[in-house]
This record gives sequence, C-alpha cells and structure tokens, in this order.
Amino acid sequence: MGTISDHVRRILSTIPEEVLVVAAAKTRTAGEILEALDAGISAVGENYLQESREVIEEIGSRATWHFIGHIQKNKVKQVVPLFDMIETVDSVELAEIIDKQAEKHGKVMPILIEVNSGQEPQKAGVMPGDVKALIERISLLPHIAIEGLMTMGPFLDDPAGLRPYFRNTKALFDGIRAERIPHVDMKHLSMGMSDSYLIAVEEGATMVRIGTMIFGERIYP
Ligand SMILES: *Cc1c(COP(=O)(O)O)cnc(C)c1O
Repeated sequence: MGTISDHVRRILSTIPEEVLVVAAAKTRTAGEILEALDAGISAVGENYLQESREVIEEIGSRATWHFIGHIQKNKVKQVVPLFDMIETVDSVELAEIIDKQAEKHGKVMPILIEVNSGQEPQKAGVMPGDVKALIERISLLPHIAIEGLMTMGPFLDDPAGLRPYFRNTKALFDGIRAERIPHVDMKHLSMGMSDSYLIAVEEGATMVRIGTMIFGERIYP
C-alpha cells in the first residue's frame, strides 16, 4: 500500500526523467492531487469537465492540466480555457470547434490526436491509417498546435499484449514526424496506464497517464 507520495516517488524512480507522468485524477479530490504534486508530479489528467473545474479552480497553475476524457462538442467551450492540453482529438469537426474557442480566448490550444490503435469500431480515436490525413487538415487551423499522438489500446486481461499496439503507434508517430508537416511539432507520445506504463516507455512513450497506481483503486467508475 503506502501513501500517494510513496507511490509517486516509486513511479518516478522507475522511468526516465524525460518521460512526463500525467496523474490521471478522475474522481480524486484536490487534497489527493496536491499530495501527488508535492511528491513531484507536475501534470494532471482529467476526464470530466464538472469535477475537474472544481479541482482546477482550487489548485490552478501549480499543475498543467490535460483533458484525457471523451470530449463532447458542447463542452469544448468550457474545456478550452481551463486546460493546457487536450489529448483526445479524433475528428476535424471537434478540432474546428476547439480552434474557434481558442481564438476567442486568444490562445493556441496544444492537442494530441487520439489513435484507435486496436482498430476497435466502438472505441474513440482515429484509425491509424487515417491519422496522417487528419493531421494535415487540422494543421491548417491557426489556434491549434498539434503536438503528438495519444492512444489507449484495446482492453486486455494481460497488459503485455498491448506492446504491439504501442509499437505500431510509435512507428506511426515517427513516420508523421519525418513528414515535417508545417505547424505540426510531433514531440509527445502519450501511452501507457498503471498496468502498462513500463511497456509503453520501453516502446517509446514520452508521456504516461497513471491513476490507480498513484491514488489507489477507484470506487467509480
Ligand atoms: C483513468 C485513465 C487512465 C489511468 O488509468 P489507471 O489504470 O487508473 O492508471 C489513463 N488514461 C485515461 C484516458 C484514463 O481515463
């Protein structure tokens, strides 16, 4: 068991310094998040606008805030001013709404493109074969900065099975980076969660999103 601080220190000691740990904080209180920040976390991921608003108002710029949940188009208006990065963009339509709201706030919104690396029809994310074309279109929007890719991978009983999905996403990432698309800076590859982050780092993740291993089991959802 141990405390949140113990967990954070242990995780940070097992991964290279240049990999950013995003503490996936859905359902967690501001107090729990602050304990993680005190122990060395700098980035926090939130899935739900309503609960994140409260903790962001309380904690503010002590952390950078990543939106990592499914983003509803009618919530973009509130998400854009609150967050420092949106990791889950998977359509031109969504990007256009983000662009418009970012313009209103005089900001350029950093985003990642979410890849459906398992190619599962019911899942969020763009199919790997469509990522490049999507990035080319979104790159034309002036108030969005594409900074890389994010993937979840399929849900598997054995997280070791995620390795090929991570590897394919890394190859896609490298391929797009090599294209040097104007206004696209492929610098972040967000993949890996509590049970898979070590595999993800081995396969080239520059960002991992860790919830349970930092904060303990969630009661919901
Ligand atoms: C909850 C969540 C995580 C972290 O999951 P854990 O298994 O608790 O580490 C990572 N990414 C996303 C998008 C999440 O919603």
